[in-house]
Amino acid sequence: MSELAQRLKTGERRALAKAITLIESTRADHREQADALLTELMPATGRALRLGISGVPGVGKSTFIEAFGCFLLERGHRVAVLAVDPSSTLSGGAILGDKTRMEKLSMDERAFIRPSPSSGTLGGVAEKTREALLLCEAAGYDVVIVETVGVGQSETAVAGMTDLYLLLQLPNAGDDLQAIKKGVMELADLIVINKADLDPAAATRAQAQITSALRLLGSGRTPQGDHPNALQRVLQVSALKADGIAPLWEAIAAQRDSRVASGAWAARRREQSLAWMWERIQAGLRQAFVGQPGMAARLEAATAAVREGRTPASTAARQLLAAFKLRSPS
Ligand code: GDP
Repeated sequence: MSELAQRLKTGERRALAKAITLIESTRADHREQADALLTELMPATGRALRLGISGVPGVGKSTFIEAFGCFLLERGHRVAVLAVDPSSTLSGGAILGDKTRMEKLSMDERAFIRPSPSSGTLGGVAEKTREALLLCEAAGYDVVIVETVGVGQSETAVAGMTDLYLLLQLPNAGDDLQAIKKGVMELADLIVINKADLDPAAATRAQAQITSALRLLGSGRTPQGDHPNALQRVLQVSALKADGIAPLWEAIAAQRDSRVASGAWAARRREQSLAWMWERIQAGLRQAFVGQPGMAARLEAATAAVREGRTPASTAARQLLAAFKLRSPS
C-alpha cells in the first residue's frame, strides 16, 4: 500500500484516481486498505483551501468552476474538483463534477476532476467525498473545490467539510429573497451573483439587497464569528466572460486571512473533524443495531406497534435499545 501512497504524494493523477476508487469501494478488505492508506497520508493533508460551491441547476456552477479553476492554475495553484451529488444516490449516475462540463480545466495536467460517488446515502456519499478531499490534499492540490446542487441537505454536508462555502445566485435573486432559503444564506460565507453580464443593473440591485438582508439576518455576527460588515461577502461575477474572478479571489483570501488570524479557521476544521467522527459513530451504531441477529423481527413488530398507536414511540425505542445492549458483546 505504501507504493500507492508514494505515487500519490508525487502528484500522480492515476494514483490519486486509484486511491479514490479504493476508498469508494464497499468491500471490507478494501475498506481496511483505505483506512491504512488514509492514516499513512494524514500528515500530508490539511494544507489546501477547501472551498464549497453550490447553487441551483443552471446558475452556472460548472461554467464558474471552469473559469475560476483556470484563473487559479494561471496563478500557480493546483486545483481539484470533487462533487456531492444527492441525486446520484438514487439514480446511480453522477451529474456533478462531470469532466465534459469543465473542458479546459479537465484537460490541464495541474487539475483533477472527480464526479460524485454514486452509491449509498447522502451521509455515505459525503463521507467518501471527505476522504477524497484528504487524498487530493496529500497529492498536492492546494485548492480543493467541492461542488453540490442547491437543494436540500447536501449543502449542509458540503459546508461541513469545507473552509469557505460559496453560494451562487442569479441576478434576479434580490427580487425574491424568500426564494433564498434563510438557512442556506446564513450558511454561505460568500454569495456570488453570477451572470452579471446578462443584466448588470439587476445584479447590482441583488448585491445591495442580499448585503442588507445578510446584515439583518446576521445581527452582527456570522456563525464563524466574523463581523459581516468588515468583509465583503456578496460579489458579482460573470463566469461566462471570466469577469470578477480576481476580486472574488481577493475576497476569499481576505476571509481566510481574517479567520486564520482569529483562530476561527483552525477551530472550524477541528469542529468539522469531530462532527465527522460522531456522524460515523452514529452511522456505525445504527448499522450494528439494525444488523444484530434477531433485531429485524423485533424492529418489524415495534414498527407495527408504533404505527398502529399501540406502543408509545419512546417506549418502543427503549425496549429495542435494551435488547441491543443485552446482546451486544461489548
Ligand atoms: P450549472 O447547472 O449550475 O452547472 O450551470 P452551467 O454552468 O451548466 O450553466 C448553465 C447555463 O448558463 C449555460 O448555458 C452557461 O453557458 C450559462 N452561463 C453560465 N455562467 C454564465 C454567465 O456568467 N453569463 C451568462 N450569460 N451565461 C452563463
